[in-house]
Amino acid sequence: MPKMSQRLSLIKPKIRLAQTNLLDEEKQKMTDEYLNSEVCQECAECCKSWWFYTDLKDDAIRSSWLDTKLISVNKIKKGLWKITFHIPCKQLIMKDNKYYCKVHKGTRPEYCKTYPMNFIADDVEQEMLDYEKKTCPILKKIEKKEKS
Ligand code: SF4
Ligand code: SF4
Repeated sequence: MPKMSQRLSLIKPKIRLAQTNLLDEEKQKMTDEYLNSEVCQECAECCKSWWFYTDLKDDAIRSSWLDTKLISVNKIKKGLWKITFHIPCKQLIMKDNKYYCKVHKGTRPEYCKTYPMNFIADDVEQEMLDYEKKTCPILKKIEKKEKS
């Protein structure tokens, strides 16, 4: 088995960006604007699963052989896979037909606070961004705004 540091090689840039607040002013403004909107309360897709990207073929193969429907492996391009655990976060709740994070004002991880803006970074591959856009309406909105 590869070392954990190798297995998480592609998720590291995202974590580093989230922790060091490398988001520029404009992007931060857009993050605040969109993340406080009702879009997330109706969606919560990023709270319904956990995932990582890997360039290790062994990880992709081994994960695809696990005998469960809770894990999926998607090839993003040659040498890049997304491994998704279709398991919701325990902190996700639904109230009055809206999703809420139980730890929104408390111990919510930095990655949650900055997603999806931490994905719009120079060192995130375009194909990863394109793939995330399929499930995140906010990323689509931001792309539209950036193009206008
Ligand atoms: S996937 Fe995007 S729109 Fe949906 S909850 Fe997450 S950040 Fe919000
Ligand atoms: S901690 Fe909150 S924001 Fe993060 S995945 Fe869980 S429910 Fe979503």
